[in-house]
Amino acid sequence: MRRSIFLPRYPMRGKVVTLSHGAGGEVMRRFIRHLFVKQFDNPILAPLSDAALINLDGSRLAFTTDSYVVKPVEFPGGDIGKLSVCGTVNDLVVMGARPVYLSVGFIVEEGLDLQLLERIVVSAAEAARSAGVEIVAGDTKVVARGGCDGIFINTSGIGVCPLGRGLSEHPVQLGDAVLISGTVGDHGIAVLGAREELHFQTSVVSDCASLNELALSVLNESSGVKWMRDPTRGGVAAVLSELVEIGSFGVLVRELDIPVRDDVMTVCELLGFDPLHLANEGKVVMVVEGDQADEVLMILRRHPLGRDAALIGHITSSGAGYVRVETRVGGVRRLQRPAGELLPRIC
Ligand code: MG
Repeated sequence: MRRSIFLPRYPMRGKVVTLSHGAGGEVMRRFIRHLFVKQFDNPILAPLSDAALINLDGSRLAFTTDSYVVKPVEFPGGDIGKLSVCGTVNDLVVMGARPVYLSVGFIVEEGLDLQLLERIVVSAAEAARSAGVEIVAGDTKVVARGGCDGIFINTSGIGVCPLGRGLSEHPVQLGDAVLISGTVGDHGIAVLGAREELHFQTSVVSDCASLNELALSVLNESSGVKWMRDPTRGGVAAVLSELVEIGSFGVLVRELDIPVRDDVMTVCELLGFDPLHLANEGKVVMVVEGDQADEVLMILRRHPLGRDAALIGHITSSGAGYVRVETRVGGVRRLQRPAGELLPRIC
């Protein structure tokens, strides 16, 4: 594991948790490994994938959990209820599973508007129906004013990995293609724009969506998909950094080929964000056998959620362990996870 000299090891006596510990960057990654994984370690947890893969009585299951603290709880294109269902569905989907059952736990602050709560619950129920999953368990806690910020939601999900179909067993290798299902950064900018204190307006709408139909249509029609992740917190940079850690290869992506909406790019230029660091909630990054990239792109583009799908780069033998970006002007820069807090409470 590469170790950076300015990122301290854990646990750290006398220190406290900061927002960086939950921001999806390098600080969070080290926090998780040195505290939680150290204590909970077991072979199923060890890969630290988006969902655990479990063999149980002849079935292969995927199991995941996630908590949602997005602020504000309603934003263009979604709300915390829809987000909590889509996010958990997507974490199952990227492991090649068909999501089936979800649990939903609500932590609600005293004083929350009941109509707002109803809208959130209705939205979560609609998202579950449209994703074809059932919410079969739940929990509600109410905490005193100040005990949380309005509403937090935890969702867990179970999916079934279809035998004989799904992700290719072949390892990621030189020449494989890196695809993305659409534009990057929409969710991050939409949520940021909905925060009144920031005083900027944008027409960007969150991409919050369940990807099961899109991803499963690819897995059913092509055997060339080797790896998938949904680039949520930490964005495309975080998932590609995760990718180069699974083998001895590098990734080279071309900035010009990465789909970014003009209005997202405008805000990024204004605020100094890299769109590759921004959260997405309805996108999937795929590694596909090089000679099947065109076919998979065609399948993705057939679906409304994959209309803007693009081939953004390749697996390389050079630069092993690194993600590199060929810039618009022809240079090459190294792409890293955001170090810490970029946009807190984005999901
Ligand atoms: Mg994920």
